Amino acid sequence: METLLLNENQLDVAAELIIKGEVVGIPTETVYGLGADASDENAVRKIFSAKGRPADNPLIVHLADFSEAVRYTSYIPELAHKLAEKFCPGALTMVLPKNDRIPLVTSGGLDTVGIRVPSHPVMHRIIELSGKPIAAPSANISGYPSPTSASHVMRDMNGRISAVVDGGQSEYGVESTVISFEDESTVRILRPGCVTEKMLMTVCGNVIVDKAVLSGLEKNEKASSPGMKYRHYSPKADIIMVESTLESFTDYVGRHYGDNVYSLIFDGDSDNFPYRHMTYGANSIQQAHQIFRKLRELDDLNAVRVYVRSPEPVGVGLAVYNRLIRAAGFEVVRL
Ligand code: AMP
Ligand code: MG
Repeated sequence: METLLLNENQLDVAAELIIKGEVVGIPTETVYGLGADASDENAVRKIFSAKGRPADNPLIVHLADFSEAVRYTSYIPELAHKLAEKFCPGALTMVLPKNDRIPLVTSGGLDTVGIRVPSHPVMHRIIELSGKPIAAPSANISGYPSPTSASHVMRDMNGRISAVVDGGQSEYGVESTVISFEDESTVRILRPGCVTEKMLMTVCGNVIVDKAVLSGLEKNEKASSPGMKYRHYSPKADIIMVESTLESFTDYVGRHYGDNVYSLIFDGDSDNFPYRHMTYGANSIQQAHQIFRKLRELDDLNAVRVYVRSPEPVGVGLAVYNRLIRAAGFEVVRL
């Protein structure tokens, strides 16, 4: 199958493919997604097979407006409506009890479904034109860093899906914040994103950050979100997170240096850093925007090992930290 590269004036073609049960790479404000009709089991199976995604890892369903969530869920708490008023459209996914319009294939066998209303005009328009709820996981091969440009999607998916719409670089660069509801005023962050704990606190009485956001699951421990248990976001290179000052980081890299060893450091660190490196931004918003692209670029350079300066795990930095510790297989050096 030849994968078509579409531009933003060809959204009718993309919508037509979705209606026919095909899979299309679609830009969103977070990362690129692999979109298909969430209510069509066969279409959804094509997503899983294109990505090589484990069947129990659920897909998020994207809608044009939160008012449509009643069509696909059996219950919506008042708090979800309040959150939707503030954060929809945007990078927030709410896990809600699903109804029969969402097949179990889409929800990875769960009786819940993650609902998001994306703000990206291309994704929004394709949902409207197709009239379908669109299941769209990140458009990477399972386990590899998420794609933040159409060329990343082409690199992973050429020949595996019908088309990719080029909508430029993803604005945020990390996937949506995923939350579930604990009680009438409490939510739990299952995956951190650009809708931060602090932002959620402006609407919720209490926000719990799931333990698995900052660390690996223990053996046999049940994941509250299936995606937590899989290897994720990993380039071919071995990633090692280093939590330290620039001084100790530099010293550590010097002692572990060699051929094809790279460092990923902050903008502004470069001046006094004598080793092979790339930078990934000066603050957590820039780091979120760049992290997956830089991990992919390090593979292009044939990096075998990469020492990464750890971001502070607060605000958007929590999302960057969460992706990096998974990319590192939880290998963190604290100096
Ligand atoms: P991706 O589609 O690659 O952005 O990953 C979506 C992630 O959202 C999954 O790996 C899950 O961890 C999480 N998720 C989606 N739906 C649910 C759900 N119904 N319950 C819990 N977590 C979910
Ligand atoms: Mg993903």
